[in-house]
Amino acid sequence: MSALSYVSADNNSPWKTYLSQVERVLPYLGEVSRWADTLRHPKRALIVDIPLEMDDGSVRHFEGYRVQHNLSRGPGKGGVRYHPDVTLEEVMALSAWMTVKCAALNLPFGGAKGGIRVDPRELSLKELERLTRRYTSEIGTIIGPQQDIPAPDVGTNPQVMAWMMDTWSMNTGATSTGVVTGKPVHLGGSLGRVKATGRGVFVTGRVMALRIGLPLENCRIAIQGFGNVGSVAAGLFAEAGSLITAVQDHSATLYHPDGIDIPALTEWQRQNGSISGFKGATAVNHDAFWGYDYDILIPAALEGQITAERAGKLRCRLVLEGANGPTLPVADDILRERNITVVPDVICNAGGVTVSYFEWVQDFSSFFWSEDEINIRLDHIMEQALLAVWQKSQTLKVTLRTAAYAVACERILIARKERGIYP
Ligand code: NAD
Repeated sequence: MSALSYVSADNNSPWKTYLSQVERVLPYLGEVSRWADTLRHPKRALIVDIPLEMDDGSVRHFEGYRVQHNLSRGPGKGGVRYHPDVTLEEVMALSAWMTVKCAALNLPFGGAKGGIRVDPRELSLKELERLTRRYTSEIGTIIGPQQDIPAPDVGTNPQVMAWMMDTWSMNTGATSTGVVTGKPVHLGGSLGRVKATGRGVFVTGRVMALRIGLPLENCRIAIQGFGNVGSVAAGLFAEAGSLITAVQDHSATLYHPDGIDIPALTEWQRQNGSISGFKGATAVNHDAFWGYDYDILIPAALEGQITAERAGKLRCRLVLEGANGPTLPVADDILRERNITVVPDVICNAGGVTVSYFEWVQDFSSFFWSEDEINIRLDHIMEQALLAVWQKSQTLKVTLRTAAYAVACERILIARKERGIYP
């Protein structure tokens, strides 16, 4: 294995977490493990400078990235993150998780991801548009409906995707809706896309809760992150009769032993931009979030949140990884020893990329499906993928994460082997 010169020494970085997850699956890959170095080397990483004229006439520069981790199974697929702490290494890890996720779900995509080091909340709408358009132009040479198809992630949304689609289309001279997914519905977006990731968390959670004998009725759930993923998952679990007893976002932590009114909190968050100040629950200390008794924990914010210390004191039976990379490898070991089941990110939050795949197919055929059709196909694909991974975990006697990596990495490395090395 040759180490990359551009990765940091931080052992808890998302990239190191990903590498360690790959190490764990190698013993189960058989003959194709000889190609495993492919997984440790992103195919292409582009760093771009984005000069932005601010509304007051000053100019600021932002750093942007697009990483294509692996394209053996198809065009790159993966979101774009706007967050002040984004780094190249984080985007590398997120792109690698997309490779694994698309393969685990058997979608015909490789893995990619993008990001800009920016706090979008500090920009006006016009500044955000100019930033997005310049970023799209800068990465325009490597994206495209057949090359690499961006989508929303933390800090981006359908409007950002509309600007990306328009910019790429203007630069190439023809409207090309399939260059990004997660677009507004009247611009070739898919029904069901906005809710798809949260829905996938719910669907996989329902299957796994049944497996471990945990009824959803009155089951207590804590959710970290109340954005696109967390709020939708919270709504669906609440509709199924679960009690969402704790919710945390960047601004506050709320607790209510009888369950928080999720529609009311969602409306509050929509109007105020965060959950802070909501009156229907008690505001508690940020760290208290990890100390309560729950049945299910849903991390749906950022990476590295379940540390060894938190894994040691968590009192729950099931963790549903809505976020990408929320559990450090050392914490994974502790959760396994403590018999806490983890549905890993590469399965649990794959609802978004699955409906993105539907959107891409619909854009190519210019024929659009009903929301019911989308949800039925989504639920089916997610349930089947999870059950295949469950079977694999039983056969190999490994965690669901290692089983998901076994299913996915075998597919990726077979594609790698069959395509061969050019020239
Ligand atoms: P979002 O921007 O809509 O919401 C992020 C949420 O996390 C917000 O509520 C924010 O306040 C909260 N948050 C940020 N920093 C926090 C902190 N330090 N402590 C507690 N909460 C914090 O983003 P999203 O689209 O919901 O994505 C959330 C996670 O899900 C990310 O890991 C993302 O990569 C992953 N994901 C998203 C999608 C998708 O379709 N949007 C698909 C797959 C995975």
